[in-house]
Amino acid sequence: MDTLCRLMSPDLPLTIEPKRLARNGEVIAGQYAIHDMQRLGGLLHDQTGQVIFRLEFTFDERRNIPFISGEIKAQVKIQCQRCLGGMELKINNPVYLGIVADCAESITLPDGCEPLQTGEASLSLQGMIEDELILALPISAMHNANVCKATELINEINNKTGDSPFAALDKLTRKSCTNRRN
Ligand SMILES: [Zn+2]
Repeated sequence: MDTLCRLMSPDLPLTIEPKRLARNGEVIAGQYAIHDMQRLGGLLHDQTGQVIFRLEFTFDERRNIPFISGEIKAQVKIQCQRCLGGMELKINNPVYLGIVADCAESITLPDGCEPLQTGEASLSLQGMIEDELILALPISAMHNANVCKATELINEINNKTGDSPFAALDKLTRKSCTNRRN
């Protein structure tokens, strides 16, 4: 795939017509720099990295629907929601899209196939890859507690205040129970 990408990336089309590509049974493979994807970049810790993809276009005569299948691989840096530091995320997502004109056509898609509502229209290849990457991002990501910088800070606060807030609460609850008994 790497060799193929190097060969094809400079020639990547700006827009694609999925139906025409599907009729011809074409394959498009290539790569983009993450820093060229502004919508995605706004959701990341920084915009380093590359995305590599391979898409195969096939036409289902019975359903009269073009399909795009393949894979998208990228390594991006997202933000830990606990310490706000960067953390690596490997994306290795299969792609399985059915090109439909409307919601009614979406119902005819096989299981596991996501509808892409563009019909006959052409669409931005980079925009489509970017959409797939955005969908692959976790809603809330956090480091493991043992490597997160916030853990150190939390431990420091706990050490200064002595007991953890839960231990303090526990003591308080016991005290009030004792009082009630008395
Ligand atoms: Zn963290």
